[in-house]
Amino acid sequence: MANTPPGSVAIIGGGLSGMLTAVHLIRVATRPPTPAQTPSVPLRIFLIQEGPDVGLGVAYGTPFPEHLLNVPAGGMSVFPRDPAHFWRWLQTHYPGQYNAADFAPRRLFGQYARDLWEATRRHPSALVDCVTCHDRAISLTMEAGRARIGLRSGQTVTADRVVLALGNYPPANPVAVEEEWVRKGWYCPNPWDPRYQDAGQVGDLLLIGSGLTALDMVVAYRKRGFRGTVHLVSTHGLLPRVHGAPGDYALSFREDELPVALSAGALYQLFKQELRRAGGDWRAVIGAFRPLTPGLWRRMPVAEQQRFLRRLAPWWNVHRHRVAPSIHALVEELRAEGRLRVWKGRVSSLRRGADGLVAEISAAGGPQTLAVQRVINCTGPQSDYRQIARQDALVASLLSQSLVRPDPLWAGLDALPNGQLRRADGSPSPTLFTLGTPMRGILFECTSVPEIRQQAAELAERLLRPD
Ligand SMILES: Cc1cc2nc3c(=O)[nH]c(=O)nc-3n(C[C@H](O)[C@H](O)[C@H](O)COP(=O)(O)OP(=O)(O)OC[C@H]3O[C@@H](n4cnc5c(N)ncnc54)[C@H](O)[C@@H]3O)c2cc1C
Repeated sequence: MANTPPGSVAIIGGGLSGMLTAVHLIRVATRPPTPAQTPSVPLRIFLIQEGPDVGLGVAYGTPFPEHLLNVPAGGMSVFPRDPAHFWRWLQTHYPGQYNAADFAPRRLFGQYARDLWEATRRHPSALVDCVTCHDRAISLTMEAGRARIGLRSGQTVTADRVVLALGNYPPANPVAVEEEWVRKGWYCPNPWDPRYQDAGQVGDLLLIGSGLTALDMVVAYRKRGFRGTVHLVSTHGLLPRVHGAPGDYALSFREDELPVALSAGALYQLFKQELRRAGGDWRAVIGAFRPLTPGLWRRMPVAEQQRFLRRLAPWWNVHRHRVAPSIHALVEELRAEGRLRVWKGRVSSLRRGADGLVAEISAAGGPQTLAVQRVINCTGPQSDYRQIARQDALVASLLSQSLVRPDPLWAGLDALPNGQLRRADGSPSPTLFTLGTPMRGILFECTSVPEIRQQAAELAERLLRPD
């Protein structure tokens, strides 16, 4: 129906991105219209989330109080226009326990997200009806301009617009793995799988990857009684840097002054120039670049984006995605005791050993052989949707009907910067939208709360706009 706002929106995925999209939709739909606006029509929202928890995902569903937010509490509000929203919640529920500069436990943020969802969905309004389906979406077909979503239970949901808030998939295996190793607990393909609770019985541990997920595993295993040596292997051999108080820094250029096409090398030079101007305060410079990152990313042709991912992204990531000082201190302590070792290289193969697995590592300093009782895949979420389609029925359904396509980097789904997904022929879909991790190839910087909250707020406005 032309010029009519949509009557229904289905959101597939009820992690933080999906939940926030629903919250913003409710806010927009219940906002009094200005005289120039089309009067609101009743809106039905379907939030489809497998399992009981809405708003948590693996990030905020962690049971460990030692798993901390990697953004200070003062920066974790879910509302872009109310930056102290989480901080006020924290003061109300845990008075006197945290400062705005503290890195609060992630599970408290999960509690905040759940509170927000409960308070918002219960808000009575004749204008919005919100249905939560605790189910898995396994198919999507288009019928007369509307999407029909098949759920695993056999039920179906029909909606005018659909948001794919699919979030983070388990990582891809970087080496050949035998089923038996997974059954015996020697190889853990998904670091977030709650079945591996026996950390105290594990002798030595190998983590493939050395980013924030690997450090999460170090913290969780220590908490569960692990006292062996932990080896971290990654191609760059870098660990996330520690948070510190950054100074304020204003960049010396405006984005619109830059060339339309930017090379990875030019971006690197730009960063170095600003770093010199800031007297070496890299945290301040990264902070100043952050709001510009998606725009700078889009100025790079695909070949330059690939070059950036190969050469600069590992370095950027460890400086940009930092750890709380307490986690950094634990890592340094374990390193000093020789109980945490970082290897620069690749795990070239795994084989069965006398008591666990033996890993062959092509390390920078020469080949290494490590015998460990458990290997955990911490290489980060799988982002190649061609591979995801092999395990995920919904993604297979969408790709096979050409309703969506992967982005040119295979880092997510192809979309306009506002989240409108592209069909296989490149045309923007009038029905399907996304935000968060699936947008990584398009925006590069899009998976943390400060970015997700902005995307969710803007997407809600876009979804309810009449076409
Ligand atoms: C361990 C970890 C820690 C993090 N810590 C921080 C932090 O401190 N600060 C910060 O700003 N960011 C952090 N992040 C970034 C994080 O990605 C976002 O903050 C946010 O949690 C992402 O939410 P999401 O909804 O996009 O994805 P997810 O949390 O992955 O949620 C997606 C949800 O969709 C569901 N789903 C998928 N497919 C279907 C389907 N077909 N049917 C039904 N349901 C489906 C999944 O079950 C899942 O619950 C962290 C990320 C991780 C992984």
